[in-house]
Amino acid sequence: MKAVVYQAPYHLSVEEVADPRVEEPLDAVIRITTANICGSDLHPYEGRADLEAGMVLGHENMGIVEEVGPGVNRIKKGDRVSVPFNLACGTCRNCTDGWTSACLRANPSGQPGAGYGYPNMGPYWGGQAEYLRVPWADFNLLHLPEGDEHESDFTMLSDIFPTGYHGTELAQVTPGKTVAIFGAGPVGLMAAHSASLRGASQIFVVDHQPDRLALAEQAGATAVNVAEADVVESIMEGTDGFGVDCGVEAVGYQAHDPSGDEHPAMVLDNLVQVVRATGRIGVVGVYVPQDPKAATEPAKEGRVEFDFGTAFTNGISIGTGQCPVKRYNEQLRDLIIRGVATPSFIVSHEVSLDDAVDAYKKFDERADGYTKVLLHPSAA
Ligand code: ZN
Ligand code: ZN
Repeated sequence: MKAVVYQAPYHLSVEEVADPRVEEPLDAVIRITTANICGSDLHPYEGRADLEAGMVLGHENMGIVEEVGPGVNRIKKGDRVSVPFNLACGTCRNCTDGWTSACLRANPSGQPGAGYGYPNMGPYWGGQAEYLRVPWADFNLLHLPEGDEHESDFTMLSDIFPTGYHGTELAQVTPGKTVAIFGAGPVGLMAAHSASLRGASQIFVVDHQPDRLALAEQAGATAVNVAEADVVESIMEGTDGFGVDCGVEAVGYQAHDPSGDEHPAMVLDNLVQVVRATGRIGVVGVYVPQDPKAATEPAKEGRVEFDFGTAFTNGISIGTGQCPVKRYNEQLRDLIIRGVATPSFIVSHEVSLDDAVDAYKKFDERADGYTKVLLHPSAA
């Protein structure tokens, strides 16, 4: 099959690799109809997370079941499915507790949590390819309605829609609450959409990219452009000096100012300033324990020195970590089916697998308008 293969930083190829097949009785093989490029795919792309050469990229996958192993009985050949980026066994202590993001059995390295085509998440190939092998298929796969309706909405169910929603869950956004979301990339925009679905009375979205801020406004948020305004002042003024109830961090460890200089603590510091005393912060932007190319010595060891003193004094709660997609994806799917949620509003480009290398380059450069790229592998 044809696939997007990681070679080295800034070097991908689209090439023929071995077809995935059923290896275990509980496996399924999916024919990919849509696979997205994610902001976190840029971490290995930029050499900021080590990935083995030869790995097929892609953890945001959906498609049609092509084949199932003899132990699979809920999922059938021909089913249309969404594949959560968390690859989980369904039976370990963390899985049975609902934390598929920290499955204890799926990652052979022993680290909790596994995924497709991603550093430190196990040996599993990704789905930016014609086919994908899915272990524990009955547990992991989410059924979608037959046909091709809502394809570009449903494709957000594998990661970023649940991840954005998880940010608002960690921040406990409930009707009437005020929210500040840092980062207007796809996850930040999904957090804004989710905050709106959860009945927030006021939503601020902070970024410095005008095209992304325009999408935030489309999602019903007030845009705050870091390049033009003092973020803390703007949000405090916008809330009559009170601050927001909830904050969402959707930027991660490569936080940088508009000139491009990285400050790993910048976003957390701002959040501690704008979230009111006893408010809550959900961190869904990615942070890592090792980052040899970090801007500061402590950050190379995952140490981010933010204003914990003020956070403690103000009694702020902070939730962190990867989203357990299965906790939310079924309900979010139904919001799409009923026309309540439309996460596809962030899609900027839909291209074939052959154009993936160019799409990565432009997405990485934040080329104008490259917000969310969907790949459509050509297999039929
Ligand atoms: Zn992703
Ligand atoms: Zn598990």
